[in-house]
Amino acid sequence: MAKTGDICTFCGRSSRDLKMLINGISGAICDECAEQAYEIVKEQMPVNKSSFRLKQKELPKPEEIKQFLDLYVIGQDDTKRYLSVSVYNHYKRLLQKVTPDDVEIEKSNIIMVGATGTGKTLLAQTVAKLLHVPFSIVDATVLTEAGYVGEDIESILSRLLQAADYDVEAAQRGIVFIDEIDKIARKSDNPSITRDVSGEGVQQGLLKLLEGSIVNVPPQGGRKHPEQKMIAVNTKNILFICGGAFDGIEKKIAQRLNTRVVGYAASRATNMVDKKNLLKYITPTDLKAFGLIPEIIGRLPILTYLNPLDRSTLRCILTEPKNSIIKQYVKLFEMDGIALSFDEEVFEFIVDMAMEFKLGARGLRSIVEAVMMDAMYSMPSQNEKTLHVTLTYAKSKFEKTDVNRLQIA
Ligand code: ADP
Repeated sequence: MAKTGDICTFCGRSSRDLKMLINGISGAICDECAEQAYEIVKEQMPVNKSSFRLKQKELPKPEEIKQFLDLYVIGQDDTKRYLSVSVYNHYKRLLQKVTPDDVEIEKSNIIMVGATGTGKTLLAQTVAKLLHVPFSIVDATVLTEAGYVGEDIESILSRLLQAADYDVEAAQRGIVFIDEIDKIARKSDNPSITRDVSGEGVQQGLLKLLEGSIVNVPPQGGRKHPEQKMIAVNTKNILFICGGAFDGIEKKIAQRLNTRVVGYAASRATNMVDKKNLLKYITPTDLKAFGLIPEIIGRLPILTYLNPLDRSTLRCILTEPKNSIIKQYVKLFEMDGIALSFDEEVFEFIVDMAMEFKLGARGLRSIVEAVMMDAMYSMPSQNEKTLHVTLTYAKSKFEKTDVNRLQIA
């Protein structure tokens, strides 16, 4: 008869038939049983839900939310105010204990329109940082109708579930940022001519999520795991923030502004239109003209815009935010015991280059990277403990760079 220590106490198999047997005080477990046990623990262990709990007194007020956004995002005041109020209201709604005859507050999903690289994602990410809620970012370009190549609409919620450590209750109160929503706009005004894979069908699917419904979500996302058990998620309390560049929408805005103006007083009003920033005048009608279906627009009641980044904003983005690009590089060098400093003119030069090559805010980082690359490569193995970047140094390093390879906004 086999002794304890020779057999797995769980499956009873002998060590001769096993790859590995781990002995305990009064029993043993084989590698396969250990693996199975781990899966059971993972599946049944209650996840730590405390990080997603919300209390009324901890809820920051809109002004506080805006102040927090100010630490990380330069300018874009209008959007910050809308975002702060709507996130605040969202949470007040969640904390409301509704009695049958009570007023039920409806949620206000948001849509932000602004050129790429103006800070839409950064704003959404920063809000999520402040609030302890599950947050996920999805890109609408990959979404397609069921049956087509690409991702199903439900995959939007898979990411949120992952961010919530599969705590369904927490996910149901989370925030989803849907980027590039303009990419699912209807391409033509007559949808019946051809079936458009990434257009109206996807919008209809998305509408269900925005409206609030119970959706069966594949926890792993995608279609690669057909065997996975679906998780039912109610989207009623999920806040959706959408963002998009809506390239060319200025034309629709201009058309609308022009056609509406008739008469002397009106023409005076058009003269006052800020033609450089037409997005300021955006209305839901323009989104419809661009190709979003009215039902979707109706479910995104807060429409806000982002300003294009001008020279002075780019200059601030370089050094002002709490984790500005320059502060990040100073930190990187500090970790090697190197004190990094810059001449003021270097910052002006970096911004000039970003403007000249139309690189936008994302380009700032690429330019700094190009300037600092040689030093980052060699200094960690040298004894030099300071680096002061002068304009001549910055120019000489930048000139060696292939501008075409720098990231554009
Ligand atoms: P979008 O989502 O509008 O395309 P992002 O939010 O991804 O743009 O911005 C790209 C990068 O540019 C950010 O990571 C950030 O470093 C920088 N950036 C853009 N706009 C701002 C801003 N207003 N304030 C601070 N940084 C900004």
